[in-house]
Amino acid sequence: MKQVVVHPEYCLGCMQCMTACAIAHSQTHSLFYAVLEDPVPKSRIHVGAGLFGEGFPNRCRHCDPAPCMTACLSGAISRIPETNTVYIDPDKCINCASCSMVCPFGVIRYHKDISAISGKITAVKCDNCHERQIQGQIPACVEACKSNALTFEEPSEAMKRKTNKTACTMSSETMKIPAASGFDLLNAVKKVQAEIKTC
Ligand code: SF4
Ligand code: SF4
Repeated sequence: MKQVVVHPEYCLGCMQCMTACAIAHSQTHSLFYAVLEDPVPKSRIHVGAGLFGEGFPNRCRHCDPAPCMTACLSGAISRIPETNTVYIDPDKCINCASCSMVCPFGVIRYHKDISAISGKITAVKCDNCHERQIQGQIPACVEACKSNALTFEEPSEAMKRKTNKTACTMSSETMKIPAASGFDLLNAVKKVQAEIKTC
């Protein structure tokens, strides 16, 4: 099943994903009017800064099994199978913070939200843009990300691409090292591979 895959190596720290996420979870779905809403919509994806100031888009991994689901005392957290979404029901949430204490990724926040009854503070996190997906749209953060730091695809496809990229990087380095004398055939193969440049 397709999921949002994070590629931190491409993140520019522009926070477009955060803006798009907040707008996608607003009443008006408009950048200009959303800021006037009560409650002001907040992003469910959080871009943090690394050691060198580089961005890291942090969002719920929709773990399976999900520690937050196990820890939730009121049974407010369940999985929506159609989109493999770990979902928090704001009506059942009692705001006890058990879920955020066990979440290894620090992606749960507590605030007012349009999904909850007026004025109620509830646990809020990425809902996989479940409603958008049901309507055939991709998640808002992926749509907004122009540097491909967020993609919506089969995770296995993304991992295969990373494996091939790593292999290419490694081989471009090993190509520079000639095989020992007596390995003429191997040297010839390396030469051809370098010329083909399949990566
Ligand atoms: S998938 Fe949707 S809810 Fe989740 S971080 Fe992206 S925009 Fe926000
Ligand atoms: S909130 Fe945390 S523990 Fe729960 S599914 Fe998301 S990443 Fe996993």
